Amino acid sequence: MVHFVGAGPGAPDLITIRGRDLIEKCDVLIYAGSLVNPELLQYAKEGCEIHNSAYLNLDEVIDIMKKADAEGKTVVRLHTGDPSIYGAIREQMDELNRLGIEFDDTPGVSSFCGAAAALNLEYTLPGVSQSVIITRMEGRTKVPEKESVEALASHDSTMVFFLSAGNIEGLANKLMEAGRPAETPCAIVYKATWPDEKKIVCTLRDAAQMAEKEGISKTALIIVGDVVEAGNYEKSKLYDKDFETEYRKAHGDK
Ligand code: SAH
Repeated sequence: MVHFVGAGPGAPDLITIRGRDLIEKCDVLIYAGSLVNPELLQYAKEGCEIHNSAYLNLDEVIDIMKKADAEGKTVVRLHTGDPSIYGAIREQMDELNRLGIEFDDTPGVSSFCGAAAALNLEYTLPGVSQSVIITRMEGRTKVPEKESVEALASHDSTMVFFLSAGNIEGLANKLMEAGRPAETPCAIVYKATWPDEKKIVCTLRDAAQMAEKEGISKTALIIVGDVVEAGNYEKSKLYDKDFETEYRKAHGDK
């Protein structure tokens, strides 16, 4: 049995209880060493076989899983944040299906949630934006044309860019060329929830310069949109005293 587990964004106490329990019980642990906090390894039992997948290719990862499963061992595959976001889990799951090896998936706190928490930010402010676009700049991995930065920028939604901190200047330029004003609020969060977390609130115009000044070029998220600075949002309907819900009667003077 293989358990895919989300490790959370960094702080070791942001893994789920289920995820930690699975680490405590597993016989083999394969963790994404580039971004998973090594403090989580302390939950592994004595004698647990531990592999850092930063040094492995897909075939090697699958071989470790295959061997362990044949010996009746339990494997945890620990991914950073939530495994469903840029986690490259599908290709592993398809191989496991082919080999007839059972697996399941335990979610984790994605770094985009960790970054919002670091900023005390709400991505979906009424009257400002009700959508969050999670995307990335094109790198070695191609982005479908319809999902280009320029195409997605036209929605004026809140945008969260993963895997793009290496070219913040290029990103900001694309967004501005696509019509987002240079004053659009923007936040850059480096290593959200880690002890060396850094956060910058800026605008598209000065984002690249600010990031350079702080030495940020990787392991960061770039959040773009008026929610970063919005002062002119509308209050929620859910907690409006004049608004009835299934659970609460209105308290208005009607
Ligand atoms: N599955 C992960 C994302 C993996 S892709 C998740 O749900 O968060 C790796 C990218 O995620 C990094 O390049 C960076 O953009 C972002 N990232 C991961 N951890 C981060 C953190 N603690 N703070 C800021 N960005 C992070």
